Parts: sequence; C-alpha cells; structure tokens
Amino acid sequence: MKNIQMVDLHSQYLKIKKEIDEKWEQVLESCAFINGPMVKQFQSDLESYLGVKHVIPCGNGTDALQVALMSLNLQPGDEVITTTFTFIATAEVVALLGLTPVLVDVEADTFNIDTKAIEKAITPKTKAIVPVHLFGQCANMEQILAIAKKYNLYVIEDACQAIGATYTFSDGTTKKAGTIGTIGCTSFFPSKNLGCYGDGGAIFTNDDAIAYQLRGIVNHGMFKRYYHDMVGVNSRLDSLQAAVLDVKLKYLDEYAQNRNKAAAFYNQAFADVQQIITPKVHNNSTHVFHQYTLRVKGVDREKLIALMAEKHVPVMIYYPVPLHLQKAYKSERYQHGDFPVSEQLCKEVVSLPMHTELDEEQLKYITKNFLEAVRLSSL
Ligand SMILES: *Cc1c(COP(=O)(O)O)cnc(C)c1O
Repeated sequence: MKNIQMVDLHSQYLKIKKEIDEKWEQVLESCAFINGPMVKQFQSDLESYLGVKHVIPCGNGTDALQVALMSLNLQPGDEVITTTFTFIATAEVVALLGLTPVLVDVEADTFNIDTKAIEKAITPKTKAIVPVHLFGQCANMEQILAIAKKYNLYVIEDACQAIGATYTFSDGTTKKAGTIGTIGCTSFFPSKNLGCYGDGGAIFTNDDAIAYQLRGIVNHGMFKRYYHDMVGVNSRLDSLQAAVLDVKLKYLDEYAQNRNKAAAFYNQAFADVQQIITPKVHNNSTHVFHQYTLRVKGVDREKLIALMAEKHVPVMIYYPVPLHLQKAYKSERYQHGDFPVSEQLCKEVVSLPMHTELDEEQLKYITKNFLEAVRLSSL
C-alpha cells in the first residue's frame, strides 16, 4: 500500500509530470518570470472556468483578502463581520488594516457562518461581510446577499478552500464559489484544491471599477507607470506557478470528483457509528472537500489521534482554537462561551486524509483503523 498522507502531491505530480515539465521548460526558455504570457493565459482560462469577468492574480490567498479589503475605501474602525471558525488569515488582514473584525458563530452541521448571527452583529459601522466557504462548500450565499443588500454591505468571499464549488440559488441560477459576492478570494497554496508549487492567489470580481482598483493595488498602487495614486502592495503570481495552475485547472473538476468519491467512502463507512457525525452537504452548494472533517462525540480525541498515528494514518484538527480565543485576537469584546457552537466544534472535529490520489486500499485501511481507534478511545 502507498504511504498515507493528508495530501499526496507527489503522486498527483507524477500523473501530470509531462505537461508540467514541458510548460516549466517553456517558461524557463522565455525567462518571462513575472507578468509573462503564462500568467495572462492562466488568468483568462480561470475567468472562463469561473464565468467571472475579472481574475486578478496575486501572491497568495492572504494578500488576496487584504487587497480586496483595500479596494473598498474602508476607514479605520469600520467593522467587518466574519466567522470565528476559520483559518486565521481571514481575520488577520482585517485587523492589519485597522478595521475591526466582528466575529460570529457558525452552523454546527456545515461549519459555515450562521446567517442569523450575522444580522445580529450588524451596527452602523458595519461595512462588509466575509463569509468563508469552509472545507469546500459554500456558505448560505442567498441569505448573505439578502442581508448585504438590506444593510448596504460589501460581501468578500473567502473561497480559499472552495475553488470549483458551485452554488445554486432558489431561482435556479448557479455560480462558482468566489464569483457570488462583491469580490472573491482564493489561494493556490500547494495543498489547496487548485494548488501550485509555491505560493499563489487570486481575486475575482464582476465589477469593472473594483477590478481596476485591485489591479493597481497589487502593483504598488500604480495605475499609470510610476504614478502612485494610493499606498499599495507588491503581490504577484509568477509565471512558473501560473504554468502549473494552467495545467491543473483542466483537471480541477476531475480532482473534485476524486475527493467526493473518497468522502462518499468515508461517509458510508461511518454511517452507523453513533460517536461519529459525518459532514453534511448543504442543499444549495456542491462540496469540493478541501477537507473531510467529521465530528466525534464521547471519544477521547487525543487518544484517538495517538492510535491513528500508531497505524501511520495522519489526521489533523482544523481548527483547535476559534479566533476569538486566540491570544492575538482576544479582546474585551469576547469571552469563553460567546460562540458555543464553534467552541464545541473545536473540541470535536477531526480531519482525515483527503486528496485526489486516495485509492480504495488506502481508504479501507483508514476507515478500518479509524473505526477501531474510535472504539478504543470511547469514553
Ligand atoms: C489557505 C487559506 C487562506 C490563506 O491562503 P494563503 O495562500 O496561505 O495565504 C485564507 N483563508 C482560508 C480559509 C484558507 O484556507
């Protein structure tokens, strides 16, 4: 049996090695490492795939979120509502820009932002909502857009974990994750669903004026060469990364299918086990399973993890601490117990190996040993 990893990038690379190596050689020969034709090609291919007017490539997903916020002319002290159960980058950029992150709880079954909690958190200072499509399925965008419209707020989607997921509105229209709100952000970190071989990210929008701002901000606030109209950043996707991404984009839907097959295998294996709650897929969104995250109840989770390690099956906790209890983000505003769902999830979640190359032998081995470990660690 192949070694089991959380993410197996090497096996995936071997399948596309010829295409990747050829494209890399092309870039090396051209020496157009920055803003070369490969970046333009990928940008335009991604625009077609997503059905969005503008893709602005940038250095990483965190930059994408930061630049998105910078493009909206927000003022220090303006409030941005997001979830407390996410990767830190979502709130980090809000705080860095002198804006106030206002955290809210999530829904227990989807791990996504609780739309009822959003409306309660709105104040006259609220300017934007940042829903995170956590683990690969979209937040309830129909309700989020309705709230945003009612209170005149921007919506910035953190689609770093959900590229390729499709959201269906009640009128039947469908949109890709990241193209639904005012602006969408994604990451091409190697382990992400569309990952490159280094750092990378992109920003999406259908708004021409915002796209113009975004393109200037990622390039030192420069809208005309050497004329700097605002304080910007330097955030670029390089040509070698664009080459990898342009190859992998063709396989993105197939990759999502492989992930869904593995998730279905896990779901079935754990269906009748009382201590395991398998992830729910929301009716209106497809799931691209960036992570397969389940919950365990009545189990000593530390012991469970140790037992899995003995069997050489890596498992991870995404995430062990909600943002409102992180040292850097603690404030008088928040206390233990403020967001009970997220706090409970942090104690219960376990993410199993999830990638495009899991085979049946590995899945059988993982599920057999996980069931055994749950039994042995039951309280
Ligand atoms: C990965 C990730 C980011 C940050 O992306 P980087 O490319 O690592 O900067 C932001 N938000 C979420 C939800 C992520 O998973």
